[in-house]
Amino acid sequence: MSASFSRADFDRVMVPNYAPQAFVPVRGEGSRVWDQDGRDYIDFGGGIAVTSLGHCHPRLVAALTEQAGKLWHLSNVYTNEPALRLGDRLVRRTFADRVFFANSGAEANEAALKLARKVAIDRFGPEKIDIIAFNGSFHGRTFFTVSCGGQAKYSSGFGPNPAGIIHVDFNDLEAVRRVISKNTCAVIVEPIIGEGGIIPATPEFLQGLRELTRENDALLIFDEVQSGVGRTGKLYAYELYGIEPDILTTAKGIGGGFPIGAMLTKDAWAKHFQVGTHGTTYGGNPLACAVADAVLELVDTPEVLDGVTAKADRIAKRLEAIGERCGAFAEVRYRGLWFGWQLKPEYAGRAKDVLAAATREGVMVLMAGPDIVRMAPSLVISDAEIDEGLARLERAVNAAFAN
Ligand SMILES: *Cc1c(COP(=O)(O)O)cnc(C)c1O
Repeated sequence: MSASFSRADFDRVMVPNYAPQAFVPVRGEGSRVWDQDGRDYIDFGGGIAVTSLGHCHPRLVAALTEQAGKLWHLSNVYTNEPALRLGDRLVRRTFADRVFFANSGAEANEAALKLARKVAIDRFGPEKIDIIAFNGSFHGRTFFTVSCGGQAKYSSGFGPNPAGIIHVDFNDLEAVRRVISKNTCAVIVEPIIGEGGIIPATPEFLQGLRELTRENDALLIFDEVQSGVGRTGKLYAYELYGIEPDILTTAKGIGGGFPIGAMLTKDAWAKHFQVGTHGTTYGGNPLACAVADAVLELVDTPEVLDGVTAKADRIAKRLEAIGERCGAFAEVRYRGLWFGWQLKPEYAGRAKDVLAAATREGVMVLMAGPDIVRMAPSLVISDAEIDEGLARLERAVNAAFAN
């Protein structure tokens, strides 16, 4: 049955806003995926930092199927045990006192931005709406979040953007100091920029943002949609810096492949969302919460988190060696199992050639813009899968740059 549809059907029935690779994956196990012809691929992309425990992890399959036989959906007219269990785990394990569940990263950020506006307007009046965001950052594709994102190509062409959003350069504290004011309600920042190329904030920058937001009665929002849930070797990247935000957003890896997002915050800010202020039909649904709770139970252990750091150093060394032999790469940036492999200027725009060659060699990688090959494998990828995947990747980059 499944083979009666092919990649060509994508171009016939789908809105053409994506350009998927040439094969159609049908099955996954651990860090290996199979296509319709039974060919296997090593997955270094992790569904864009989402399948944090690989494909079809037995404990996640068990959590999902067990919940699927019990209760799927009730709306927020009722609460449910999986949501309460997951919420309790998140507040115990983070800076936060309160959780709001959504279905994606963009929705978690939308909630964060609306909460920051509400807090500021409730406390200080209607002028306090400015949001400071950073060039090169990414916060999702709803109109508010994409307008906060720092890539004009994503946010233009849709008519007037929401007002009050100011962009400055990432890691430039002086630029923030110049624009922050009593009218600032929030600063939204990725502690480590993901889509923009795995670029870590400096500790001084985040520390400076923490101080400037406090001085100006503005909230500090950390977008950890990509950096969270063990990706960097900590449960959340703010722990790497020892700096707590007022609001944190999490999605992607927390669901291990099942759609869920969450906004975490403190009591003092949460109370500005009263009954009816904000909501979503599916947020906190039992299936998503049961899976996410199982993900956190597995990831939030010293074995997995320390394993991330050890595997990361090993992969980074090997990538550097491959890059040197092939001659096309300038550097490997990484934090945990999250790699940005930067092409040299003379190979600008050719990350897509690496993706196509990787497909042919049986390995899945990502891009972060046209000049960076990105990888975000499973946090529990095996050494054998790493070795096989890197061997295929070396063949792929050699093929891509052979001419
Ligand atoms: C992917 C991403 C988002 C958007 O998440 P969606 O689930 O695609 O809406 C937001 N912020 C960051 C940092 C991301 O990497």
